[in-house]
Amino acid sequence: MRMVVLPGDGIGPEIIAATVRVLELASKRFGLGLTFELHDVGFASLKSRGSTLTPEVLPACRGAEGIVLGPLSHSDYPPRAEGGINVSAELRIQLDLYANIRPSRSRDGLTHWGRTPMDLVIVRENTEGFYADRNMYQGIGEFMPDPDMALSIRKITARGSDRIARSAFELARKRRFHVTSVHKANVLKVTEALFLRECRKVAKEFPDVTYDEQLIDSMTALLVRDAQRFDCVVTTNMYGDILSDLASELSGSLGLAGSINAGATHCMAQAQHGSAPDIAGQDKANPTSLVLSAAMLLDWLSIKHGKDAFASAARAIEGATDTLLRDPARRTRDLGGALGTKAFTEALCKEIEA
Ligand code: NAD
Repeated sequence: MRMVVLPGDGIGPEIIAATVRVLELASKRFGLGLTFELHDVGFASLKSRGSTLTPEVLPACRGAEGIVLGPLSHSDYPPRAEGGINVSAELRIQLDLYANIRPSRSRDGLTHWGRTPMDLVIVRENTEGFYADRNMYQGIGEFMPDPDMALSIRKITARGSDRIARSAFELARKRRFHVTSVHKANVLKVTEALFLRECRKVAKEFPDVTYDEQLIDSMTALLVRDAQRFDCVVTTNMYGDILSDLASELSGSLGLAGSINAGATHCMAQAQHGSAPDIAGQDKANPTSLVLSAAMLLDWLSIKHGKDAFASAARAIEGATDTLLRDPARRTRDLGGALGTKAFTEALCKEIEA
C-alpha cells in the first residue's frame, strides 16, 4: 500500500521522519506492506520549483492509499499567484476530505488541565463554513467593498451538514453512543438552523445514539468544567478548529492530539499543531501528534479494507505512546521531559517492538 508523505515546513521534516520510522516498524511487525513516496511541499518546493504545491503532488495523493502531511507555515507563504498555495486546504478541497476527526483524551499519569478527565472526539466539518479560501466555487469568500469595510461569507449546506453529522453518529456507535451538536443558532438563525436541522434528521436514523445540543460559547466553559460528559462533538468548520485545540490542550497538550482529514475515498493524517518555527531544526519537537494521526490513518485503512492487522498496528502505536507518556523520564521537553525528537522516537520504536 502506497503512502504519500509530505514533510512540510518548520518542524515538519523532523516529525515526519519520526512518523515514517514508526510506520515502517509497524508495517514490518504487522505485515501491512506499506511503501512510502516522499514529495516536497511548502517552502522546500517553493524554493526549488516556484510553488508550495507542485503539479505532480495532487495526482500522487489521489492515487495513494493514504497521505501523511507535516505542518505548514502557510501564514508566511507569498500570494497564490506567486506560488504560495495553502497545501492543506487544497488537498482537503480537491480530495473532498470533509471530516476532520480530532480526538482528545487525558492519560493516566499525565496532568490534564480541565477539571475532569476526558475522552472525546471533535468531528469538524472541513470544507465550508467561514473558511474563505475554500467555501466558494469561484473567487474567495472575503472581500473589501471599500478600504474601511471587510466582509466574509460563511457557507453552510444541507449536504455538508448531513455528511458530517453522519460521520459523528457512525463514530458514536463505536464509542459511548452519544453525540453533541455545537452551534450558535440563537444568533445565526439561518445558517446554524440549517446545520441543526440536518443533525436532528440524522439523529432520528440513529435511535441507539443519544443526542443533545450546546451553544458554542457555553461549550467552551463546559469543556473546562466537565469535559467527561462529552463523547462525539459535531460542529461546523471554525468552531471545530478552535474547540479541538482547546480540548487537546485541556487533555494534556496540543502536542498529543492526533487528527485525520477523511472523505469517502481518501484519508490524510495531519497533526493538529502548526509548524513551530521557533523550535525547528533543534531536535525539540514532540512527534506524538503526527504519530497518533498516522495511527488514526491505519484505523481508517483497517475499516476501508477490512484488514484487522491495520487496527492492531494502530493499537500498538497508541499503547506504546501511552506507556512512554506515563514515564516522566521518557517525555519530550514540551511535557517537562528531557528527550529530544530522535531519542523519543527511538524509545517509542523500542516500546512498539517490546
Ligand atoms: P504552532 O502550533 O506552530 O506553535 C505554537 C506553540 O506550540 C509554539 O511555541 C511551538 O513551539 C509549540 N509546538 C507546536 N507543535 C509542537 C510540537 N510538536 N512539539 C513541541 N512544541 C510544539 O502555532 P503557530 O506558531 O501559531 O503557527 C506557526 C505556523 O504554523 C503558522 O504559519 C501557522 O499558519 C501554521 N499552522 C499550520 C497548521 C497546519 O499545518 N495544520 C496548523 C496551525 C498553524
